[in-house]
Amino acid sequence: MHDHDIPLDDIAEADLVTRRGTFRTVAFRDPVDGHEHLALVRGEIGKRDGVLVRVHSECATGDIFAALRCECGDQLDAALDEIVREGSGVLVYLRGHEGRGIGLVAKVRTHVLQDEEGLDTVDSATVLGLPVDVRDFGPAARVLKYLRVGSIRLMSNNNDKVRALEAHGIAVQARVPLLVQANDHSIRYLTAKRDRLGHELPHLDAHSRSGFGAAGE
Ligand SMILES: [Zn+2]
Repeated sequence: MHDHDIPLDDIAEADLVTRRGTFRTVAFRDPVDGHEHLALVRGEIGKRDGVLVRVHSECATGDIFAALRCECGDQLDAALDEIVREGSGVLVYLRGHEGRGIGLVAKVRTHVLQDEEGLDTVDSATVLGLPVDVRDFGPAARVLKYLRVGSIRLMSNNNDKVRALEAHGIAVQARVPLLVQANDHSIRYLTAKRDRLGHELPHLDAHSRSGFGAAGE
């Protein structure tokens, strides 16, 4: 059942030529969270099954400025590359998701605690009295329904994201791992995501074994 459809007055579509070629941009204002989000669509996806999809939470520091302390920017690039390689797919870019939904100011405040107190991404939020994850994936489900995708293959390491989309009525045929190389600055963050948030990140073991940045960081 459709909980909320996006009003047509709150959607605009146009072609967008990028370094990776042409995508269809679907900008929309979500009727529930009020944010303006964006879907980038490649190829024919309507009524198809197994459409390759990335639902990406905005991260200004990682996505725009290529910060190395998280893997967001690399995942964004890798997901777009995969969609281009496949020839079709959707990247949904969700606003209002900074720091798993706590906002940019609060996120940077957690960075201070991580750098100065050695807290991880979870504890640095809870010490500040902030929730660990308050992201709403409803907007992604709503735009995927608007695009009439049949079922999706979700590029993610996070099974909670699969469950959230399914709860909003999206059929997830498979989860496709989206593993990017860890570096000395991101390894602690990624390890906390694996150990404390349940993300599937099997490649981190190889990073530790390589000794590259494993000690002293
Ligand atoms: Zn990030």
